[in-house]
Amino acid sequence: MLAERGVSVELLEAAPALGGRLGTWPRTLPDGTPVTVEHGYHGFFRQYYTLRAILRRIDPDLAFLHDVGGYPIEGRDPAWEPEDFTDLPRVPLANLAALVWKSPSFRLRDLRKVDAREALEMLRYDPVATFARHDHRTTAELLDALGFSERGRAMLFEVFAHSFFNTEQRYSAAEFLAMCHFYFTGNPEGLGMDAPRDHYATTLWEPLGRLLEKHGATVTTGARATVVVNGPGGWSVGVDGGPTRTARHLVVATDVPGTRGLLGASPGFATTAPRLAAQVDRLPGGEPYVVARLYCRGDVAAHRAAFTGVTRERVLDSVTLFHRLESESAAWARGAAGSVIELHSYACPHDAGLDDLVAAMRTELVALWPEFADVEVLDTDAHRYTNAPGFDPGFHPHRPGVVTDARGLRLAGDWVASDVPSALMERAAVTGVLAANDVLREEGAAPEPIASIAPRGVLAGRTRT
Ligand SMILES: Cc1cc2nc3c(=O)[nH]c(=O)nc-3n(C[C@H](O)[C@H](O)[C@H](O)COP(=O)(O)OP(=O)(O)OC[C@H]3O[C@@H](n4cnc5c(N)ncnc54)[C@H](O)[C@@H]3O)c2cc1C
Repeated sequence: MLAERGVSVELLEAAPALGGRLGTWPRTLPDGTPVTVEHGYHGFFRQYYTLRAILRRIDPDLAFLHDVGGYPIEGRDPAWEPEDFTDLPRVPLANLAALVWKSPSFRLRDLRKVDAREALEMLRYDPVATFARHDHRTTAELLDALGFSERGRAMLFEVFAHSFFNTEQRYSAAEFLAMCHFYFTGNPEGLGMDAPRDHYATTLWEPLGRLLEKHGATVTTGARATVVVNGPGGWSVGVDGGPTRTARHLVVATDVPGTRGLLGASPGFATTAPRLAAQVDRLPGGEPYVVARLYCRGDVAAHRAAFTGVTRERVLDSVTLFHRLESESAAWARGAAGSVIELHSYACPHDAGLDDLVAAMRTELVALWPEFADVEVLDTDAHRYTNAPGFDPGFHPHRPGVVTDARGLRLAGDWVASDVPSALMERAAVTGVLAANDVLREEGAAPEPIASIAPRGVLAGRTRT
């Protein structure tokens, strides 16, 4: 966006390739086939207006995305049949009414026990009032107070909280209500999601890299920023193994560990920007998570969905059938009479090793889908990560936004505060555009418009409470 408007841009990326948490890497399977592995399955939701506007620059029709179809939530308890919420009406309030009407998790006798005042908070979302009222509580406390049935809680809310790489015990109730608003009660686009037809290197990062270069930007990978120092000429950025860069404007778009490392190692930063330094010092990280991609001989049952959310298992949170979603995986699976199955654990036990966690996910999948016992795993690409952001209760007033007390330094990323309804990839995109707009403002140029769903819930009232 900045490069498009003629601003001279250099992008420094520490990793060998662009992508961050949507990065990819090559792998050779035991049969000699070279494949591309991704950091993990991502759902591109339809209310991600800012992300989609960026992606339209590489594909105006977004033809590289396709509808994933229904995605059920499943639990091991035989009394809890799988539930799929993707075919609900799109209009806010009608979607909620249909959910309560259709879902077996919400029977009349269960609903009588629900605390209506607490439940209405989902429809009264306001970026100021909701945080004032609920940021001090955990999501677990909110869900206890709501009084939904065990089944309703497990099928809907626990899976949802885990999707943000947090447990209910550590996740701010206000952040959780903001997510309810963004993904459901305030979302006019429905719960359907899209995924790329091919892996992220070909569909996202190579075209985005080419676009940046076309607009004259320099992309330097394998270039970790190590220190940032403010001086009379702007910001100087020390780079591992490379010359120091200087820039009038700086956008720090690193993840939580990267930001802590960079600003913490920058001499004098606490004097230049005492507020931001203190905020970053206390910045919570999210729970550890595991992604394991299994290349298998044999397949699970044909009726299994391409993406399934899993509830109430100790480790396993989701299963993605890549061979039914993505062309490279589909081609390999056809040739090998096999399947490519990705298992995620979004808030995994802290004390277990990677091999044990992968083994536990496989055992849990057999308990859910017994036919998986007959699938032979030929190769596993598994990683445990600690780079997700945390949204701990009480942190909201201290969460830095895009513009900081470090003059000329802006932040962007999924952990950065913004009143624009957004999360995850869309929050990263929104804060990126807001950061670019702040640079454009200083350069005297017009901002890029930002579209979003309604900023407040349908029952939030006309004025702030
Ligand atoms: C398994 C998994 C599944 C997910 N599923 C979804 C989903 O379905 N939908 C959704 O919306 N989101 C999903 N997400 C979240 C999504 O990936 C993130 O919200 C998004 O990628 C955040 O983007 P970001 O730019 O803020 O951070 P990142 O993607 O983490 O990018 C930060 C970049 O900074 C670089 N960096 C760090 N330190 C330095 C330094 N000192 N110098 C230079 N570079 C540095 C890193 O290498 C990295 O490339 C998922 C995430 C994971 C891990």
